Amino acid sequence: MTDTSTPDHANRTALVLFSGGQDSATCLAWALQRHARVETVGFDYGQRHHVEMTARERVRSGLAASFPQWGDRLGEDFVIDLAGYGAIADSALTADRAIEMQANGLPSTFVPGRNLVFLTVASALAYRRGHTVLVGGMCETDFSGYPDCRRDTIDAMQTALGLGLDSPVEIATPLMHLDKAATWALAHQLGGDALTALIEEDSHTCYRGERGQRHDWGYGCGDCPACELRARGHAAWKASVPA
Ligand code: ZN
Repeated sequence: MTDTSTPDHANRTALVLFSGGQDSATCLAWALQRHARVETVGFDYGQRHHVEMTARERVRSGLAASFPQWGDRLGEDFVIDLAGYGAIADSALTADRAIEMQANGLPSTFVPGRNLVFLTVASALAYRRGHTVLVGGMCETDFSGYPDCRRDTIDAMQTALGLGLDSPVEIATPLMHLDKAATWALAHQLGGDALTALIEEDSHTCYRGERGQRHDWGYGCGDCPACELRARGHAAWKASVPA
């Protein structure tokens, strides 16, 4: 017998933590495929690069234009000013410091507590907007090993937010166990060549905020850790698909 009932997630609406990078662009497509209504939230915490914030709008409008079925589901975008947090959470992303590995094994781009703050603020917005699902691109297979990207941390946050709001919250992390090649493959599975081309062209990952040179994987300086990871993943994904 075929189950024709609507899956539970299709009846629930989602708020995607959306930075305009490759990962969150893929998460946004994933959420649009799955949920009837999706809104996005971005955080401005004094990143060195407002280029990331402009990438957000390009990806959103590109998705709506190329995938009308998703465009119908894509709702409002919110940008929340967290400059006060940025002032506390000094790192190579928010201050003028070199991007390098530190003695504690974490890159200098680690912003302490970032995902904890983002998820807390996003959950307050989701509560107000009636969403019960938060979607984020956290990933523990990433080279950086940021402790607030691990699923254990996310599970603890999910429990804490559900208790603190007295309302169940699901934090969906579709990229958690994927490497970057698998993230490209997921995008292709969701939206084919049109989606991977859109992510290559319009999403932004480079830590240095450079968009001068176009590589086959997109724009960027080509040698910061974020560009290296994106380029390596893209090459591995391309090598894995038959020409
Ligand atoms: Zn770069």
